[in-house]
Amino acid sequence: MNNPRPCYLQIAIDTPLNAVFDYRWQCEDDQRPHIGQLALISFARREVVGLIVGVADESDVPVDKLKDALAVRSQLSPLSAKWLALAGFAADYYQRPLGEVALPGLPKNLRVLTTVALERAIKKLAKLEVLHDPTPANPPALNASQQQAADAIGGAQGFKPSLLYGVTGSGKTEVYLQACAQVLAREPDGQILILVPEINLTPQLEGNIRARFPGVMLATLHSSLSEGERMLHWLAAHEGKARIVLGTRLAILSSLPHLKLIVIDEEHDPSYKQQEGLRYSARDLAVWRAWQLQIPIVLGSATPSLESWHHAQSGRYRKLELRERAVKNAVLPTVKLIDMERDKPNDGLTSQLIAAIKQRMERGEQSLLFLNRRGYAPVICCESCGWISECTRCTSFMVLHRPEHRLRCHHCSLEMRIPRHCPTCGNVDLQPLGRGTQRVEEGLQAMFPEARVLRIDADSTRKKGSAQEAFDTVHRGEVDILIGTQMVAKGHDFKKLTLVGILNPDTALFSQDYRASERLFAQLMQVAGRAGRAGIPSEVLIQTRYPQHPLYGAVVHHDYDHFATALLEEREQAALPPYLYQALLRAEARELATAIEFLNMARDCMEHPGITINDPIPMTMTRVHNVDRAQLLVESPSRPALQAFLKEWVHTLREMKSRVKWSLEVDPLDI
Ligand code: ADP
Ligand code: ZN
Ligand code: ZN
Repeated sequence: MNNPRPCYLQIAIDTPLNAVFDYRWQCEDDQRPHIGQLALISFARREVVGLIVGVADESDVPVDKLKDALAVRSQLSPLSAKWLALAGFAADYYQRPLGEVALPGLPKNLRVLTTVALERAIKKLAKLEVLHDPTPANPPALNASQQQAADAIGGAQGFKPSLLYGVTGSGKTEVYLQACAQVLAREPDGQILILVPEINLTPQLEGNIRARFPGVMLATLHSSLSEGERMLHWLAAHEGKARIVLGTRLAILSSLPHLKLIVIDEEHDPSYKQQEGLRYSARDLAVWRAWQLQIPIVLGSATPSLESWHHAQSGRYRKLELRERAVKNAVLPTVKLIDMERDKPNDGLTSQLIAAIKQRMERGEQSLLFLNRRGYAPVICCESCGWISECTRCTSFMVLHRPEHRLRCHHCSLEMRIPRHCPTCGNVDLQPLGRGTQRVEEGLQAMFPEARVLRIDADSTRKKGSAQEAFDTVHRGEVDILIGTQMVAKGHDFKKLTLVGILNPDTALFSQDYRASERLFAQLMQVAGRAGRAGIPSEVLIQTRYPQHPLYGAVVHHDYDHFATALLEEREQAALPPYLYQALLRAEARELATAIEFLNMARDCMEHPGITINDPIPMTMTRVHNVDRAQLLVESPSRPALQAFLKEWVHTLREMKSRVKWSLEVDPLDI
């Protein structure tokens, strides 16, 4: 029998320090830990879980500085080399330490549970059977383009990215499901990852999947699971038991040892981009993962991102098209523009829109009003002295929330009661200015006292489960008029909805952000796509002051192709993404000058041939929560050149040990 002797574990830890740390571990030779296992260690006087990325016979760390690892989580099969490579790629690409990428994505319970509790959880998994056993639903017969697409995806071998470009209601979901069926039938252990942009869209799809694949274990992964559930679902995926994993962006880093197909629904959706911490794009990582595993991936959308459209045009992605709606007789809604200069709105609604809503009420059909602004009014003001409700901590306004009698800043969540009189001049007559969803709701209810009006936005759905409840109410037909923000614009298949009114889209037309028109166009097409899905003739009314604007013209003609192709040409001429690669360095400080000074130093600290570094500028919303923010945009036509520069740059910036808080974002969406 061997005597235990030490080996040295190289461990990645969730810390901004860009290093792996050595720990000693006493064990017999045949019981050495494996790369990809988790270990419990003491770090900075806390017990934390780290990821073993190397096992060695010796260590460069002096013996008196070496600590022993506390435990190795051998109950769990190690994370695979492929998974480690995925985390490693994300860390490299987004310029983050490996531990900061690999560890936060793991379920918290894997990290915090005691060994005994962890064993209990793993036993639970062994007993976990396929939970539901609904009566299997028969798949509908696909139409010819759907069949072609499903076969192309389901039958693909190797790395084959497809762009499933299908108009709203063209039955993309059905294509995914039948492609999945082919893969599950062909690959006895095969796993499939399906990503959707928002949790609100998982229940609908989850129901469809369970009904379609009754014997197959499905695991969901999204932010509203309890820690216990998340742990169980993550383990089910990691141990290969769950054959379909349905989740939001965070699921892209789940461990899937037998992954054979990736589906990204609504691939254009900005929700795939994480906007804090590790600012990754789940869509981009998904494409890399498919390449790494040499498996097919499908990106579906009625309004693909210009990045994906570009790849489809250049032939890098195969374009699969669904030009028509799948349901018999269902056609795309008629889109009309209402000139608000001629038809002056009353309570935010033009007479034409009011007449159209009335008509739907009489026919027993549903209307949806879309306004991407929650609250009652974006600001209140004093007409006698000009005071307006600014946030004292941010470069923004306090939004009036009338039902709650509060003013709220949507950026720092500062809250206060509505002042009784003007803080500057004492005037008691403070007026709301502009219109949010609550105000529209109030106006509608006054106009249509008999109507069942429902508002769906972040405020009305704060309670867990309340969003689902609200959507169910709409599906059951218990709502006449639905008013909502972008929450209602995505993915939902409301059968009785025949009118969509779009209240105030104009502001985005003149935004400084070059992506604003791409985003507005996608949003309008998506929300318009909620109408007429069951074959009842339907219309979309857009209220605008600029009915001549070409963007609206393209929406009227449902003409994504030309719009996107023209936009791409503009981007190419102006040398903008996807023809250019960008990264954004942000700095935060109490004083704007401090942040700018840091960015100036960052700009000048290194040679950078082939890389353009712009001047530092304050961010559009400069101050949030009493912190001033500035940014520095870095650009290059070559991705490898930019990557090489960033790596060295981040290293240099770390060495600078500035007290300014900074962060780097690769491929930023908002600049
Ligand atoms: P998309 O995701 O493209 O917007 P969906 O997948 O939600 O569209 O499908 C729209 C509607 O068409 C759904 O009600 C779906 O059940 C129906 N559908 C899809 N394919 C078919 C088909 N081949 N025959 C009949 N109905 C279909
Ligand atoms: Zn005043
Ligand atoms: Zn604020």
